[in-house]
Amino acid sequence: MPDLNIACHCGNVKIKLTGDPVVDLYCHCKDCQRIAGAGCVPYSVYPEAAVEVTEGKTMRWALKNNPRTRCANCGTYLFGHPEGMGVHGISAYLLPAGTFKPQLHIMCDDALLPIKDDLPHFKGFPPSLGGSDEKVDW
Ligand SMILES: [Zn+2]
Ligand SMILES: [Zn+2]
Repeated sequence: MPDLNIACHCGNVKIKLTGDPVVDLYCHCKDCQRIAGAGCVPYSVYPEAAVEVTEGKTMRWALKNNPRTRCANCGTYLFGHPEGMGVHGISAYLLPAGTFKPQLHIMCDDALLPIKDDLPHFKGFPPSLGGSDEKVDW
């Protein structure tokens, strides 16, 4: 995939994404529910080194342990950094239409609302992200 240049809602923060995502997924964990006010959050997961904030002022905070980054002006949620995994989960709402290609659901044990589709629904993290192969039965 060609490099992507994305921006927050107000346009102050610009981010360059290099190369292909590791995986596109939906996270159903309680932290993502709280920070997004949503049932789950779509993420395009990139290696840390592939994500560069090229412009604008960001605000970094943590609900619990995982640092998350927003635009300091408009508050758009930009990405999260799950600790010790070497990746950034880019909020897929920021990507150009048609770019996000979800492959799986994670943290489904915490789900508020099951999403029934043909993708695998992992209870926690999948094996490719250091977790187990256990799935929920939706
Ligand atoms: Zn902004
Ligand atoms: Zn989450």
